[in-house]
Amino acid sequence: MSGETTDAPVLIAGAGPVGMTAALALHARGVETTILEAEPEDRDRSGSRAIYVHGSTLRTLERVHPGLGTDLVEEGLVWPTRRTLYKGKEVFNRTYDSPGGSGDIPHFTSVPQVVTEQYMLDALDEVGIDIHWEAEVETVDSSADGVHVETSDGREWSAEYLVGADGGGSTVRKEIGANFEGDQSENAFIIADVEDEAIEDGHEDLERMFHYDAPEADGRNVLLVPFTGGWRLDIQCIEDDDPEELSSDERMREFVRDVMGEEYEDNLKWVSSYYFLQVMADTFVDDHRRVLLAGEAAHLLAPFGARGMNSGIADADEAASAIAVALDARTDAVARDEVELYGARREKAAEYNLGAAGQALEYLQGDDPVTVLRKEVAASMSDKFETAGEWLDDAPYGPHGAPPIVSTGSY
Ligand SMILES: Cc1cc2nc3c(=O)[nH]c(=O)nc-3n(C[C@H](O)[C@H](O)[C@H](O)COP(=O)(O)OP(=O)(O)OC[C@H]3O[C@@H](n4cnc5c(N)ncnc54)[C@H](O)[C@@H]3O)c2cc1C
Repeated sequence: MSGETTDAPVLIAGAGPVGMTAALALHARGVETTILEAEPEDRDRSGSRAIYVHGSTLRTLERVHPGLGTDLVEEGLVWPTRRTLYKGKEVFNRTYDSPGGSGDIPHFTSVPQVVTEQYMLDALDEVGIDIHWEAEVETVDSSADGVHVETSDGREWSAEYLVGADGGGSTVRKEIGANFEGDQSENAFIIADVEDEAIEDGHEDLERMFHYDAPEADGRNVLLVPFTGGWRLDIQCIEDDDPEELSSDERMREFVRDVMGEEYEDNLKWVSSYYFLQVMADTFVDDHRRVLLAGEAAHLLAPFGARGMNSGIADADEAASAIAVALDARTDAVARDEVELYGARREKAAEYNLGAAGQALEYLQGDDPVTVLRKEVAASMSDKFETAGEWLDDAPYGPHGAPPIVSTGSY
């Protein structure tokens, strides 16, 4: 086995949005890193995936690499209208005349994940951080003194700390003996990207549309969200649906035609079906406090409320902060404590996010008669009371609050 060392004190497994953010956030704190990525440089990252980027995420990216947050704002779009229908009847429609947020950063932006990742790659290039492509992490050994990693290309790496940002199937998670715990959505979701080159920011009639029990989708819930270059169409399967049959080319063309109109029928770019997992690792750090899990390596969430990439980027920034302080610490105990605190904070945040996404999932898929009745009553009252329609519009996304902040000690 040929040896390869790096002078960088921190290794990062995975060049997804979370690993790349961790590298930029460490660089911003004066810490050099080496990124090890399993896939080749010319990989295909298909599907729009994390289109909804929260304002707080944009502010984090702007802080760790000035210009990155505002570039994404420029590239993305803010849809001004929220519209909800219930069994064919409009129950809520509101248009905002301002994108919200503060300064140059709006409340959110809508941009395909692949575009966000390209801007992150450019940012890494700008600050001189290399990605070692086709270097899949295979083994991780941590000790009180640091971490030793072997990659699939036969190289070996040593560093003070390792950030495991290697996604849902994380090898790093398995190597430190952490396990995923949780469950998965009852029914499947079909998600498609439909190209629309005419979509540009500032389009006055752009709207996010949610339709409960849509007649044009045979009584399934349908969500339609614009992003730069196209639309995301989500169809929620119902009991006894066969997601494979429903996501076939022919059936999807029908859905697109019936929901969006004939002119979109040939614009289908990507289709996939998912059962969403709702799981988190039983620990986010290893026994020696040298390995920190972040992003989907640490938790997988149903996408309602858009907490996946957004919370992964928060993990990455907090991991960078903990490592930067730990590297400067005069005592080992303080260094350990920083990493432990990272684990405590982000485990608490993941618990909160799982609860929030789970609440949305239960609302959408559960057959609790009280929820079903509440939806019916709200829909019937929406003509007279706007708040009833607003509740129907908002509930599929779960609560809006932020996770609690954890500190050391009991107070
Ligand atoms: C349909 C859909 C819609 C979504 N919508 C949203 C949304 O609107 N907002 C939101 O916030 N999130 C959303 N998400 C979630 C979001 O896509 C993920 O949370 C995000 O990609 C996770 O980033 P990550 O960097 O943790 O993992 P990944 O993106 O999976 O990146 C992990 C990286 O690690 C690499 N890797 C894997 N194993 C190894 C190894 N052993 N060694 C080295 N490298 C390795 C992989 O090749 C990959 O490059 C959505 C997801 C889906 C599927």
